[in-house]
Amino acid sequence: MFGDLGRGGGRVRDTRRGGLRDLEFTDLGDLGGDLEAERGGDAEAAIDLSLEEAFHGARKTISLELDEPCGACGGAGHVNRRPCGQCRGSGWAKGRRHLEVKIPAGVDTGARIRVSGEGPRGSGGRRANLYLRVAVRPHERFERKGDDLYVDLPVPFVDAALGAEVQVPTLKGQVSMKIPPETSGGRNFRLPGYGMPHLKGGGGGDQYVRVQVTVPTGLGPREKELLMELKLLRPEMPR
Ligand SMILES: [Zn+2]
Repeated sequence: MFGDLGRGGGRVRDTRRGGLRDLEFTDLGDLGGDLEAERGGDAEAAIDLSLEEAFHGARKTISLELDEPCGACGGAGHVNRRPCGQCRGSGWAKGRRHLEVKIPAGVDTGARIRVSGEGPRGSGGRRANLYLRVAVRPHERFERKGDDLYVDLPVPFVDAALGAEVQVPTLKGQVSMKIPPETSGGRNFRLPGYGMPHLKGGGGGDQYVRVQVTVPTGLGPREKELLMELKLLRPEMPR
């Protein structure tokens, strides 16, 4: 599905001979993980994404260290019937390949992205596939459930009581939203279409805004006076 991301000239050992131990997956800052052997010679690597990257989609550069045929002996392991000095007779040398991979918008933890033909060399000299196993890091502000997002929004109690227009953070930027009068804490408001994009079929989830009613600190004498007045007007106010 995301094939043809550049054909490197490198070769790696046949995984069925345990050559995967010679594969090394290195961290470029963008992406890190360990290559693991897979059925049929495919390899799998872990990729970490921020929620923003999962939301917008991303291009990531990964660096693979592979065993390639030794340049001095052409992979034979010997030159003029003597062991090759370059590779000490193994026929292999370390090579490095950089791949740019495209991460589709909407991916979630557990998704596997196939990078066709970029895994270890399999039977018949064809490259096996490289799979990227996605993990989306938790966000400090947004909570994800499927393709819906949840965010807590602190609202001063006066605004919650009288109603107000408030600014809400979304992954598309700040959005203004109307809080109706007499809004209690814990109430949810839905922002349709502000959730994560669906991986397939277009569209996306919604964002839910949970109101957290806040009380200001450092109340002045006049404020306390007004609140006392309110208390006398509403003796039945719940505690
Ligand atoms: Zn050699």
